[in-house]
Amino acid sequence: MSGPRAGLVAPRGDLALIEGYHSAQVEVAVRLNTNESPVSPPAALVEQLAAVCGEIELNRYPDRGAWALRRALGALHGVDAEQVFVANGSNEVLQTLCLAFGGTGRTAVTFEPSYALHAHIARVTATDVIELERDADFEIDSAALDQLGQLGHSDQLGQAGHSGAGQPHLVFVCSPNNPTGAAVAPDVVAEIEQVTTGLVVVDEAYGQFSSWSAIPWVADDRRVVVVRTFSKTWSLAALRLGYCVAPQWVVAALESVALPYHLDAFKQAAGELSLRFVDEMNDRTGWIVSERERMRAGLASLGVRTWPSDANFVLFRPPVDAREVWSGLVARSVLVRDCSSWPRLAGCLRITIGTPAENNTFLTALADVLGELVGSPEAT
Ligand code: PMP
Repeated sequence: MSGPRAGLVAPRGDLALIEGYHSAQVEVAVRLNTNESPVSPPAALVEQLAAVCGEIELNRYPDRGAWALRRALGALHGVDAEQVFVANGSNEVLQTLCLAFGGTGRTAVTFEPSYALHAHIARVTATDVIELERDADFEIDSAALDQLGQLGHSDQLGQAGHSGAGQPHLVFVCSPNNPTGAAVAPDVVAEIEQVTTGLVVVDEAYGQFSSWSAIPWVADDRRVVVVRTFSKTWSLAALRLGYCVAPQWVVAALESVALPYHLDAFKQAAGELSLRFVDEMNDRTGWIVSERERMRAGLASLGVRTWPSDANFVLFRPPVDAREVWSGLVARSVLVRDCSSWPRLAGCLRITIGTPAENNTFLTALADVLGELVGSPEAT
């Protein structure tokens, strides 16, 4: 008699259309492909972390509300702890936003090209996605804002179940924008809030490298949510800790869908501890920003087009086949992100700013690769 067999249950049909999001993990000496911090957290933080972890009562569930961490984040940003939601990386914050405010019959808007996970997570949570286009300089122009406004004022207002029609419930604004680099101007974010009635989710994963933040705009009578992470400036990508600053009614909705005790005690303690090192973090942001400008100048001197960046990475387009450049760099033990097959980014690569030594290694390797592919840099 044959019973049910494992592996014969099909996953949700719509998942088959969704592509995963992966970055090549190649063993190289210089890894500049995932926008991490190039340096470890301050030594004192790592030392104190060991002591703090030793004090955790392992037989007990962690504080479900993660209040100590939320209070510390609230103090950092000048908001109430009730206006902070914490999760396992900012991707989980984005997912929780989609679970609470997206879902079947609801719509999210993105401005492409942008962080692929916004559309990806929305689709995984069965949220319809409308992709609006940035202009040729990768900015959100008045045409895109008009289109957004028209969605908001469509006849389909509030009706469920329409792919791409009606009121967006979530509008993702990545500022600074990954992978293109520039921050979205404050007046553009303000206009987005004006022309929609959905949540305006400003993803500030790279916010510390930018000259402005939307956090002061978060208020209980507004719809602005700002998402942040410990993965970049804080040198804590391995910790998987992110948060958002949001109106209290948004945070309450997020908590209603988050799993009980989803944030473990180690993470809560480590996050709270790291907030005592704000000065050290600001120092790092400072030198990474100046290295970023040195990197842009170095790329320009090799005849490589770059785009302005308010983040810890630079998008660039070499004058020859990007895939060959990427492979040439890997052959020299330098890994950058190959964006050349991504929609709207033909020919583009993205480099994360590393230490000065890593950046020099990259620039030397690139000059070498370009020399091989197109002759001397002067010839480009
Ligand atoms: N938002 C943006 C714009 C990102 O680039 C990233 C990381 N690549 C994230 C969110 C997710 O970061 P994490 O989950 O590590 O907090």
